[in-house]
Amino acid sequence: SVEIRKVNKFYGPFHALKDIDLSIPPGKVTCLIGPSGSGKSTLLRCMNFLEEYDSGEVRIDGQLIGYDAPGKRMSGRKLREMRRSIGMVFQQFNLWPHMTAHENVAEGLIRVRGLSKADAMTRAADALAKVGLADKMGNHPSRLSGGQQQRVAIARAIAMEPKLMLFDEPTSALDPELVGEVLNVMKTLASEGMTMVVVTHEMGFAAHVADQVAFLEKGELVDVDTPSGILHHPKDARIQSFLRTYH
Ligand code: ATP
Ligand code: MG
Repeated sequence: SVEIRKVNKFYGPFHALKDIDLSIPPGKVTCLIGPSGSGKSTLLRCMNFLEEYDSGEVRIDGQLIGYDAPGKRMSGRKLREMRRSIGMVFQQFNLWPHMTAHENVAEGLIRVRGLSKADAMTRAADALAKVGLADKMGNHPSRLSGGQQQRVAIARAIAMEPKLMLFDEPTSALDPELVGEVLNVMKTLASEGMTMVVVTHEMGFAAHVADQVAFLEKGELVDVDTPSGILHHPKDARIQSFLRTYH
């Protein structure tokens, strides 16, 4: 689980996250939605401390991330240790251009996990099969479609066997016809009980796959509810007005 309590984040004088309280239950999918600049990426990045929060707490399965105690930063080594259990997938796939899909997925297993090359290649092949790319393992990124590249990025994350997966607009950089294949892989992960937090503009995915949807605006968490509660029966005028732009 991820427990976010009274989290505040400033960029200089700019108040980017305001007293955010949010519980991410284990084995469930939480979607973060809201207008551009509302703080979705910032909040997501606080969950693995890629972004430092200034006050409040983010706990991963009970353990505070980023700090040993309020105001006291944890060591880089301890932070890296905690991050090992958290996978992240970005809008940009960030694959190594000079490596095949197979090598891209195996690389972290060798470097971060210390697996032998043979074990890493076996586990990487399993992860690629899982995202439907068993037949493309030998391709370099330039020989893969955007959707395939993003599935390699997902395989790279799941090969590390994380207990939590963070997605920041994983389909936003894709041509529309390639969005579905990536969402389908994410649906499969969800159905297997992966704890997932997904920043997305895909309202269909939020409606059908999320267990809960959180709406942010101007750094405030306006509401968190079931998908139907947020998307079909929004109580807050800010959510109603945001959703109108999608119809
Ligand atoms: P989008 O949908 O466009 O990705 P978002 O909801 O993810 O938007 P964030 O990227 O979290 O929004 O940004 C929240 C606010 O914080 C924005 O107003 C942004 O300009 C500001 N911000 C983000 N990163 C920085 C930074 N490094 N320095 C200063 N301000 C920043
Ligand atoms: Mg963002």
